Amino acid sequence: MSEIEAQLAENHQVLPFDPPYFGKHATLGGMVASGLSGPQRPWSGAVRDMVLGCRVINGSGEILRFGGEVMKNVAGYDISRLMSGALGTLGLLLDISLKVQPKPAFERTLILPASTAESLIKFNQWRASLLPLSAAVHYDGAIYLRLSGNPAAVEQACSQLGGAAAEDAICWTAIREHKHAFFDQEAPLWRLSVPPATPCLELAGSTFIDWAGAQRWLCSDVPATRIREAVGRVGGHATLFRGGDRLGEIFHPPSQGVWQLHQRIKKAFDPNGIFNPGRLYPAL
Ligand SMILES: Cc1cc2nc3c(=O)[nH]c(=O)nc-3n(C[C@H](O)[C@H](O)[C@H](O)COP(=O)(O)OP(=O)(O)OC[C@H]3O[C@@H](n4cnc5c(N)ncnc54)[C@H](O)[C@@H]3O)c2cc1C
Repeated sequence: MSEIEAQLAENHQVLPFDPPYFGKHATLGGMVASGLSGPQRPWSGAVRDMVLGCRVINGSGEILRFGGEVMKNVAGYDISRLMSGALGTLGLLLDISLKVQPKPAFERTLILPASTAESLIKFNQWRASLLPLSAAVHYDGAIYLRLSGNPAAVEQACSQLGGAAAEDAICWTAIREHKHAFFDQEAPLWRLSVPPATPCLELAGSTFIDWAGAQRWLCSDVPATRIREAVGRVGGHATLFRGGDRLGEIFHPPSQGVWQLHQRIKKAFDPNGIFNPGRLYPAL
């Protein structure tokens, strides 16, 4: 458990976006700057949705405050959200106000056998339902569901869904922290972000489907250009998360318009290119 998580647990609170920490010394700044969310993200929102405000030092040495501290309080551009996922390229986060949630009263995990194609159809149906889902993944011929909320609602949903109890079969923290056996592979690890109803992508390698279809982890030796083409065709993007050519493009190359926006924002916050040059894109 990370230090951040342990402090929240003392007050029976959790970060609703379920972030990975990748080590117990992870910092709040690194967590927000990396912009990563865990299995609960489709139901609770992403990191940026929970950032209420922040204080930042920019490349000109100015200390700037954006947003509020206790509620959403933004007039004009919502700059605190821009900091989420910027990987520290726009400035140094000095303090951050985040929304937290009470720890769910009750949780159950179910396993239901399903092929990849079947799982995507089911995820699509369940997304539109009122089921108290808080995680839905597919791996190795089975769907794993986490249900969270009040005991009566969770138990009722479990009997409606069928399947078997799987508390011991899968560990949600291991998925979030990439300690699950799937992540223990040699091939480069890709994070594919796609519209959730996207059918199976025809890419060689092994896949772990998270976020009820919207986030797909792919371990594959297929060349980067082919992966990016396939994901781009369905309106998604592909990030080379681990391994592969770390000197090339890690993030999906942006369109011309988005690239110009990136450059203008970088110039406004960090005119001399001090903060993490090349961290987001080699040319930024
Ligand atoms: C594409 C991608 C690939 C990743 N691959 C891995 C991986 O292979 N292994 C792994 O363990 N983790 C990986 N991560 C996760 C991430 O880098 C962090 O390790 C983690 O989420 C946060 O840990 P940390 O607090 O130690 O942050 P750090 O690792 O210290 O920092 C993470 C990023 O946040 C920035 N940052 C940190 N603090 C601040 C601050 N106060 N203000 C502004 N910016 C700040 C850093 O400059 C850096 O770019 C990856 C993230 C992304 C987006």
